[in-house]
Amino acid sequence: MIGLVDANNFYVSCERIFQPQLDGLPVGVMSNNDGCVIARSEELKALGVEMGTPAFQLEGPWQRGELHLLSSNYALYGDMSARLTQLLQAACPKVAPYSIDEMFLYLDGLDHTACQALGTALRQRIWHGLRLPVCVGLAPTHTLAKLANHYAKRDSHYQGACLLDGHDATTASLLKRTPVDKVWGIGRRLAERLALCGITTAWALRESDTQRLRRRFSVVVARTALELRGTPCLAMNAADEPRQRIMTSRSFGRATGAWEDLYGALNRHAQRSAEKLRQQKGLARAVMLLLHTNRHRRDLAQYHPQTLIALPYPTDDTREILAAVRQGLQHIYRPGYAFMKAGVMLVDLVDAEQYQMTLLNPPPKTSHLQQRLMATLDRINQRHGQGTITFGVPPKRAVWHLRCAHRSPRYTSHWGELCQAGTHPGAIAETRNRL
Ligand SMILES: [Mg+2]
Repeated sequence: MIGLVDANNFYVSCERIFQPQLDGLPVGVMSNNDGCVIARSEELKALGVEMGTPAFQLEGPWQRGELHLLSSNYALYGDMSARLTQLLQAACPKVAPYSIDEMFLYLDGLDHTACQALGTALRQRIWHGLRLPVCVGLAPTHTLAKLANHYAKRDSHYQGACLLDGHDATTASLLKRTPVDKVWGIGRRLAERLALCGITTAWALRESDTQRLRRRFSVVVARTALELRGTPCLAMNAADEPRQRIMTSRSFGRATGAWEDLYGALNRHAQRSAEKLRQQKGLARAVMLLLHTNRHRRDLAQYHPQTLIALPYPTDDTREILAAVRQGLQHIYRPGYAFMKAGVMLVDLVDAEQYQMTLLNPPPKTSHLQQRLMATLDRINQRHGQGTITFGVPPKRAVWHLRCAHRSPRYTSHWGELCQAGTHPGAIAETRNRL
């Protein structure tokens, strides 16, 4: 059996661990730069606030105290996610993190009763140890486990842990009332095409002829149908597959036309992209730069240039990538525009090991030293936090620094921001209850 543990409203739940006064209130977490809502508590959903609502549209109710918005606190969420993984690993030997708040568990050799009991126990253990509410889906395949988790969240009678065995009447009745676009891997577009063949529910997909699905759609759709029947055929490596491009971009806190600001932002994005590239053991053949003025400000001059700079040879060396970034910016920079966003994309990626094996020309003599330098850089930044060592000194209050005026303290990862008992009414009693 496969288990899927998924935290409920993860970002909001992380905030509530240290701010119990937010329990039961409508709470939202905003994207970088406090732009729009990216996570909502159940109470905020009930107010009809949609995912992606721009924060300024909620200014009124926010100021009247009818709802609460927080800047995203990725240091906290990342750390809670690591703790969740650790806790699960202690209970179950095989854990595969799928996203920041979703982890697959492989429960080989456990029967249904044992799985159900484990699901319930894990929920309690996670609540007790981390104060995170989670739901657990259990099923013979990834696709069914996803669906089981969905129903564990939606129907309270499952009490947070739902088991679908793939063949019983419960599975059949749930699949019959599940729209096909709720199935893992079936997007809206694909659902529209399936509907043309009369496939509108998860059950209809399950009952379809897999050969036909393979011919008309794809092998992935055919496999999804098999997974719904309880036949495992999706490997969990989809998440680990190396990406074909690596993009790092971000909106500025305020618009800017200054060369130093733009270069600073691109420089930072390039360093981050290079780090991701080395993580997936890739080399880039080219770097793309993108700049954007604010499309919504029709009164301002618009300019959305992008440029692609080929690297002299495939590389993962931050310094080579930075040299390309400087060259590219010189090419597209025009003074007099107010830019709102900058991005760096590494494209045309190749696998580092394969490339070295098929290389006709020997790699440059410095290559070994370069690799050691980059590996050391990554190790230091991993150990001491991103940006501990960077190329170039970022000016203080740089324009690309995140605007996060409403971020909660990084309770679990920064000594200076530890939780203090007694800072709000009821905190001491609350802390005592929690211990
Ligand atoms: Mg979740």
